[in-house]
Parts: sequence; structure tokens; C-alpha cells
Amino acid sequence: MRALTLAVLLGGAAITSSAWAQAQPFYSPWGFDLTAIDKTTKPGDDFFQHANGAYLARTAIPADRVIASRRFEMTDRMEADLKAILEEAARNAGAQPTDIKGKVGAFYAGFMDEAKVEQLGAAALKPELDAIRAADRASLVRLMGSSVASLYPSPFGLSIDIDLKNPEAYALYLGQGSLGLPDRDYYLKDSFARQREAYRAYAESLLTLAGWPDAAAASRRILALETALAEASWTRVEQRDLTKQYHPVSPAELAALAPRFPWAAFLDGAGVADRQRLVVTTDTAMPKLAAVLAAAQPEAIREWMAFRTADTAAPYLAKAFADANFQFRGKILQGQEQPRPRWKSAMAAVGGTDCVDASTCLGTMNWAVGQLYTDKHFPAATKVAMQGLTTNLMKAFGNRIQALDWMGPATKAEALKKLTTYQIKVGYPDKPRDYSNVIIRRDDVLGNVRRLAAANWAFYANRSKGAVDKSDWLMTPQTNNAYNGSLRDIVFPAGILQAPIFDPNADPAINYGAIGAVIGHELTHGFDDQGRTIDAAGALRDWWTPADAAEFKRRAAILGAQYAKFEPVPGSFINPDLTMGENLADLGGLAMALDAYHLSLNGKPAPVLDGLTGDQRVFLGWAQAWAGKATPEEIRRYTTSDPHSFRKYRVNGVVPNIDEWYAAFGVKEGDALYIPKDKRARVW
Ligand SMILES: [Zn+2]
Repeated sequence: MRALTLAVLLGGAAITSSAWAQAQPFYSPWGFDLTAIDKTTKPGDDFFQHANGAYLARTAIPADRVIASRRFEMTDRMEADLKAILEEAARNAGAQPTDIKGKVGAFYAGFMDEAKVEQLGAAALKPELDAIRAADRASLVRLMGSSVASLYPSPFGLSIDIDLKNPEAYALYLGQGSLGLPDRDYYLKDSFARQREAYRAYAESLLTLAGWPDAAAASRRILALETALAEASWTRVEQRDLTKQYHPVSPAELAALAPRFPWAAFLDGAGVADRQRLVVTTDTAMPKLAAVLAAAQPEAIREWMAFRTADTAAPYLAKAFADANFQFRGKILQGQEQPRPRWKSAMAAVGGTDCVDASTCLGTMNWAVGQLYTDKHFPAATKVAMQGLTTNLMKAFGNRIQALDWMGPATKAEALKKLTTYQIKVGYPDKPRDYSNVIIRRDDVLGNVRRLAAANWAFYANRSKGAVDKSDWLMTPQTNNAYNGSLRDIVFPAGILQAPIFDPNADPAINYGAIGAVIGHELTHGFDDQGRTIDAAGALRDWWTPADAAEFKRRAAILGAQYAKFEPVPGSFINPDLTMGENLADLGGLAMALDAYHLSLNGKPAPVLDGLTGDQRVFLGWAQAWAGKATPEEIRRYTTSDPHSFRKYRVNGVVPNIDEWYAAFGVKEGDALYIPKDKRARVW
């Protein structure tokens, strides 16, 4: 778990050369797909359906996916470009190349060589399984510590990020680790009994394939051990509060906090035994997790480590492993019908489009892939266009902060000061990552993963001894997402700067409704119930007064009560506490995007296009950006574990709280989405 990434936009988008080469917008006639509209649904009854209904009706979820959406279409276009780059690199790569193009190509080619992968079979995993088998308790813990740089699992998560109390330095963060199922609820609630049993069966099948003895009984012990770890872990809602996640300790204090666990061996495994200070994030979970591990038989821990190692390695292994992994992680957990084609798995292995935090995708060359991509497909003009949009959004947000009737003058002054410190990063980082010391071999896929994981972790661990690198990026250029980070930076990778989120040839109202609202969304995160804890200097300090906090909470609760009524699939309601920060960001983001669009008009009236006013087009731009659908299993998984509300609710939950929407579409009392003026949520 990363302590510091305040918030990301969502799982998933990019600009292709083909989109840029033409002066026509990607969606005719002016950036919005008019054929997507469902004219039989009134905007006031279901705005999401009105804007996207015909598109949703004609769009099927592909068998190898669990979602179909405009944003996935963006990813598809980007992946087609990446595929061409990787295939060309693979054709020209030698057995052990030295330049990044060659290395990327050799890694990709090795993954695509299925006959070779098949021939290696379970033997590819032998080094890890042998080490686990031979390990005593202390050595097992050392392997857990090394999980940051290897295929091994760990019940504790270690990460390096900026020190929240001293933003000029890095800190080593330690907290609960990630579980094998998507959330602790899957272990503890009756409603997930089917997924739990499938997980146990998956453990049995992987251990059998790996030649591990007594796989059936071992799988039951593994589930029991993980259930105990889940019980000891914090919930996702508990993990939203940054102020509760800052407990600096010395190694001696750590041993006192969570006794009966050999911490020195753990830190040694991670190569950070020399550090005299760690920041514990989930403090009350630590002694409980340590107690679970102390009570467990070493053999049960070995079984657990063998299974979770095989689980992590499965996509790189022979077909039987990859199939078992897909059956459970793709089909059962997400409702995906078919595995993705081999080239997509190969792309993901080398450095694909779905890593939202590069410091956790350690077994890849994702920065090298991003560099090859932006060299070819990211025009410099985009940086300029984005600066213009961002300037207007910042201005609109500043105006809104000044006009807020719930924030006191002292807090407003702090907020406005903080707003001036933001850096906007667009496209790709200025400094390329150096892979010159990593050996990549065409005939050793899992070895490439091992060496990259070790090198990438070493990069972060070494860097953490020096000054903070303010030019750093968490997301790679090929990521279809955006974030507001602990450097007080808002980052838009090349991957998200593509239609319908951003199209340089579209009507500006559409861009304001889409990327403009996304910029606004990210900005609010620096100032909301999470952002309030980070001040203008980047330090962890609550700069709100108790009165501001109370009023914010009261207003947020109005929005929360609206969202709590949404039931995306039968029996699964939106959790207003889990999604609160993102719902508020969507509402604030769209409201300020509308203001920024008005600012951009410079006092001139907005043009009317195909009978649609400027304000209408801003709202339609937002709705088009979230067009999409998913399998019921995926909606259920998403609703349980993701801090964002599902697509439809990012639209229908937000627009009825914005007064201009009523005027723009003539929405009246009696319409399904109608909210009386005095009941609308107003925060930003
Ligand atoms: Zn967000």
C-alpha cells in the first residue's frame, strides 16, 4: 500500500498518431458522438442513458474483457500502437541486447515464444520453491522482506515515498500487505463464500501443478491463514485517513509495537536493514498480523508462500499455470469469459497500459516502453493545449474557493496558497529511466522479471537516501489515467490525453466537460478531506479549522446519502464512505470545468452546434467520457473495492447537484433525477 498517492482518476486512456494527423475531431461532427444519444430517454430521467444509450445498446463486452467503454477503446487504440512498436523491436532483438529497444524487444519475444515457455514448465519456478522448502522461520521472513524485489509474497507491505512530515526527504513506509483476494470482505462475509471456495481450489491446483505435496490439505491451511490475516487488517475505509497512517518508529520501537516477528530479518530481506526510521501506516494491524504469523506453523507459512509465489508467477509460466490463473482471477473474480490474447499478456509483462503506480509494477520495463511510445505518438502541441485548459481550471477553482460560504478566511488563505504551488505534468517525464545495468535475455522470461524487480526496487531504495526528485512520475506515459500526487503535482500521462477525454480538434465545451472536469477532479483532491492534511509546503499538517471540517462533513453527508441509494447490481449498494472523496471530486471537478469553459469564452456567447448549447455540450462531454458497461461480477467487485463510483453514477450522481444542468436541459420536478434546489449537495 502506498501511503502517499492521494487519489487516482480510475482504472483506464491515449492519443494516437492517427487521431492527431487529422484536423477532424475523433468523434464527428465536433467531438461528441451524436449517434450515441438515446432520444427515448429524457435527460432528466437518466442523463447517462440519454447521452450514451444508443452507444451502450450497440456495444458488446468482448469475451476477453469484463468492461466495454470509451476509455477501453482509447486503451485499445494505444495498445495497437504499442503492439506495432513491440513487434518491430522483437523482430530486431538479439539474444541479450544492450539498448532499450533491443531489451524491450527481447523480453517481448521471449514471452511470445510459447513453445519455449511450455518446455520449461514448472521448472521455471524451481529457484523460489527450493528456497521456500529449505527455509527456516528466519529465512522465510527474509524471503518475505525481499517481496519488494522478487516474486515472493509478504504479509507486510513495504514502500518508499516522500516523507509526509518532511516533504524534502523520502521515508520507508511499512504496513499491512496485500491479500490474495481483492478485499478483506471476501474472507469475512457470507456473500463471498463462492469466491472463497474457488480461491481455495485455485491454491490447490497451483500447488499441484508446482509439484507441492498434500495440495488439498495445504489449500485449506492457506485459506485459514489468509482469513486470519484479513481479520487483522484494516478496511479500505480505514485506510483513507492519512493522518492515522503516520507512526514513525525506530527498529527497536517496531519490535515493541509488533513483537514476536523477526523484523531485522525482514528488513534485511528488503535490503534496508541500515534504516533507522520507518513510518508505520496501519499501526493497530501490525501486532495482530505478527501474532497470526507467530502462531502459524512454519509448514503452513511455506505452503502459503509457495502458493502466492506461483500465483504471482503464473502469467509467465506454462499454459496450465496461466489457465488456472485466468480461471480464477479472470473468470470467477471478474466474469471475464476468455483469456486475453497472448500479445496482450506479453505487453503487460514488458510494460503495459494498466499500471497505476509504477513503483509497484517492478518486474517490468514500463518506462522504456513509455519512452518508445511517446517518441512516436505524443505531439509536443498537446503540452501547450493542456497548459491553457489547466490555467483556466486553476483560475475557476481559485474563484470558487474565494466564494465558498463554508470555509473560513484563514483556511481560504491556506487553500489559495496551496493552489499556487501545484505543478502540472503532461505526457511523459523529462528524465528517462536507466535500464543499462539490467540483463534481459530472450530465453529467460521469468529471469527477466526477477532481475527487473530487483533493479527497480534498488533504484527506489538508493534514491530514497538522497533529496526528493520533484520531477518524478508515479504513472508511466502509456497509462490511461491521471493523479494528484504528494509532490503537489497533477499528472496527465500521454495515455489519457486522447478522445473522448481530450481531443485537440474537438469543440472546447466537450474538452472542458471531459479533461477539464478531470483536471478539476484532481485539483479538488489537494483540498478535500484527504488534501486538507497536506499543506502548501507538502507537509502532513491539517490546515483546516474544526468549524471548516464540521461544515465540510455536513455537506459531504448530503452527497453521501444520495449515493447510498444507488444499487449498481442487485444487493450491492455504493458505499458512500469508500467513494466519498471521489464523488466529491467528480462534483467539484465538473462544476469548476463549467466555470472554466465560461471563462474561456471571454464574454462572448457560446456557439450553438447541432442545436446544442455550450453548457449542454459540457455536460454531454462528461457523460461521454464515462460511457461504458461491465459484467455483473465486475460491477460487484468494483463496488466492493474501488473508491470510485461505477460509471453511470459518476454521471447521474453528479449532474443533479449542479444548477446549470437543470437550466441546460429543462429538467423539472417529476423527472427521475430531479433534486430540489435546497437538497442539492454543494461543496466546491
Ligand atoms: Zn480521484
